[in-house]
Amino acid sequence: MTSLLLSDLDGTLRQTKSGKTFINDPTDQKIIDGVQENLASHYSHWKLIGITNQGGVPKYKSMEIAIAEQKYTLSLLPQLEAIYFCPGFQGDQYWKVDRNGVYCGERRYTNPKTQQPISFRKPGHGMLLAAIEDVGHYAEILYIGDRTEDEQAALAANVPFLWASQWLKSM
Ligand SMILES: [Mg+2]
Repeated sequence: MTSLLLSDLDGTLRQTKSGKTFINDPTDQKIIDGVQENLASHYSHWKLIGITNQGGVPKYKSMEIAIAEQKYTLSLLPQLEAIYFCPGFQGDQYWKVDRNGVYCGERRYTNPKTQQPISFRKPGHGMLLAAIEDVGHYAEILYIGDRTEDEQAALAANVPFLWASQWLKSM
């Protein structure tokens, strides 16, 4: 049975080529040094799925540009099977991009204690739940990220968390 490696994207797997904080041009991105090597040597049998907030949609980038950005990341990183992203700040929807297409996510989750919707925007853990449910069965699971919101999302989803910097050092 395969294992599942969920990962934040910006600052964890990819960064801008220009040095800008945010990717605005979809091609202004590269895979962070060491990521491909680490995947190849330690995670070659893991299913890799990206989880990214896209708060800049639609104010700073259009949905079309955000989708193009995720498709470009998939083209740069062959092991990455799919990307889940949450546009805007409301956290009430997510989208999935893979090599076959683009899908508006239909899963919805409710906190059993509060009966409130679980946000898809990190630190909400809705995207993690959707990715886990889509994959179904897995042996091990791990989430890697570079920000507190990543750690919080992993914790809420009951998924072991590793900081991106430590993950790269484990090579
Ligand atoms: Mg990040």
